[in-house]
Amino acid sequence: MREEHSDIVVIGSGFGGSVVAARLAEAGLGVTLLERGPWRDTVPVRSMGITQRSPLPRGGQLFTRLLRGIGSNRLPGGRIGLSKHGLFELFFGDGATIACSSGVGGGSHVYSAVNIRPLAENFWEGHASGVSDASMSAHYEAVLTRMGSVTPMADHRIPNSSSVRFKNTPALEPAAPPPDPRIGYLLPEDPDHPREVVDANGVARMEVDYKANEDGFLGSPGGGKTTLDVVYLAPALKSGLKVRALAEVETIAPVAGNAQARYRITWLNHATGERTAMLAQHVVLAAGTLNTLRILLRSRAEAGLTGMPQLGRRFGTNGDYFGYWDFNDPNVDQSTGLPTTGGVRLKGDRHSPMIGGGGLPSVDRYPLPRWVKNRMKRAYMIAGLGEDTLNGEVTFAKGRLKVCYDPEKSPIFARLRATFDAISRRSGHRIYAPKTPITVHPLGGACLGETIAEGVVDANGEVFDHPGLYVTDAAALPRSPGGPPSMTIAAWANHVASRFIARHGARS
Ligand SMILES: Cc1cc2nc3c(=O)[nH]c(=O)nc-3n(C[C@H](O)[C@H](O)[C@H](O)COP(=O)(O)OP(=O)(O)OC[C@H]3O[C@@H](n4cnc5c(N)ncnc54)[C@H](O)[C@@H]3O)c2cc1C
Repeated sequence: MREEHSDIVVIGSGFGGSVVAARLAEAGLGVTLLERGPWRDTVPVRSMGITQRSPLPRGGQLFTRLLRGIGSNRLPGGRIGLSKHGLFELFFGDGATIACSSGVGGGSHVYSAVNIRPLAENFWEGHASGVSDASMSAHYEAVLTRMGSVTPMADHRIPNSSSVRFKNTPALEPAAPPPDPRIGYLLPEDPDHPREVVDANGVARMEVDYKANEDGFLGSPGGGKTTLDVVYLAPALKSGLKVRALAEVETIAPVAGNAQARYRITWLNHATGERTAMLAQHVVLAAGTLNTLRILLRSRAEAGLTGMPQLGRRFGTNGDYFGYWDFNDPNVDQSTGLPTTGGVRLKGDRHSPMIGGGGLPSVDRYPLPRWVKNRMKRAYMIAGLGEDTLNGEVTFAKGRLKVCYDPEKSPIFARLRATFDAISRRSGHRIYAPKTPITVHPLGGACLGETIAEGVVDANGEVFDHPGLYVTDAAALPRSPGGPPSMTIAAWANHVASRFIARHGARS
């Protein structure tokens, strides 16, 4: 097997991975980022000069590029691969279905770009000495600023925004926004004429086009949505960051008696089919909760990465509950506007859990009969969320990952089900929601803690019993933020990067 070396290896390029990789590379440190998915074919990535790009799922490639693979507690072998260029991965666990994404930039391509701080009060208090709401505050500000997060305006020119859409309906009203609401889009100065903008790094982006709504959960081909490849990786490449796309990490093994390397990472190159070993002094795991836990648990079972007694415990779903709201009103085309429409609630329900959603993006480009497309244009993907109890457990046996979670142990699900039922009844438009909740916010399982008896990583993000191994993605979160978590993950990664640079020094 071919062997390479990098001082620091970051695994995964989502909010946890891109932030830490960019910060460390910009501090002059030698960083290689391994990402299992491809670079996406977007206006900004083209302008960055990346030649190997993969189209987002659209038109004839909607179905072939949609799914990377499917996993389940019950599938023989645990999972099946569908397309290494696929945008989403689905995992059917007991009590939770998990959706996550694949590609350079991770979840930032598919997310709705609602960028907020935790809704759960005192989120960072009481987990580990040296980490508190006060100490994390500057990290939130840093990532919100770098993500170019803007405060959404109640603009009557944006079709379908909640403030307009639900203003005069009999049963519903726009929900009050969360504190300091921000979104990550390049909004158009003139909505009728979106234009190309080139940033300070020479990266080109198209402003959001409200009429086309191309910037939803199937990616943002023009770059109207602010993604991590543009904001974090493009400048970091200039600082020497090496990004390997289509590089899927399988295991991490400890190395003994080598002054240059503490870990041996085995990864599969999906472009060539070749397996390579990468020796590293520091390894940062940020493959997204499901895959970070898969790599750690598999490495413990097969590669001698012993210990980590709390690994896989306290897995949660952020109380996510999704439904398909079948409006079917011929006067409505919900496929236009921003993917983030804002919140909605029953009239006067001031204690409503957080509920929002939006139309399906780019419906006109789906290869489906016109009547199906018309019906989909009138529908609304409705989502509720709130703090859950992290009662889940993720385990690995006989080469297979297993997720067990009981939504009945978290009161948030009963509240959301009741609210969806009431919205269906009182709006006269039915919401279809699956019995097993779908989460796009899996978290925990390698949680921050004060000691090895309480968590997997310490206040530096370092695994208690494996110096030089770090977790910076949602797997490290000790609690559900109760609202969209990406800025919390990015802030945690920023905190770990700052601590790393303070302890190990920056090179210039
Ligand atoms: C439809 C949708 C809408 C959302 N909307 C919002 C929102 O509005 N606001 C918000 O805050 N959050 C939102 N989210 C959630 C957000 O996307 C996730 O919480 C976030 O991306 C998680 O960050 P992460 O760093 O933990 O992992 P990810 O962003 O998932 O990144 C993990 C990366 O690691 C890669 N990887 C996985 N396994 C391996 C491996 N073995 N080797 C190498 N690389 C690997 C993956 O391909 C991926 O690129 C949304 C999610 C979805 C699906």
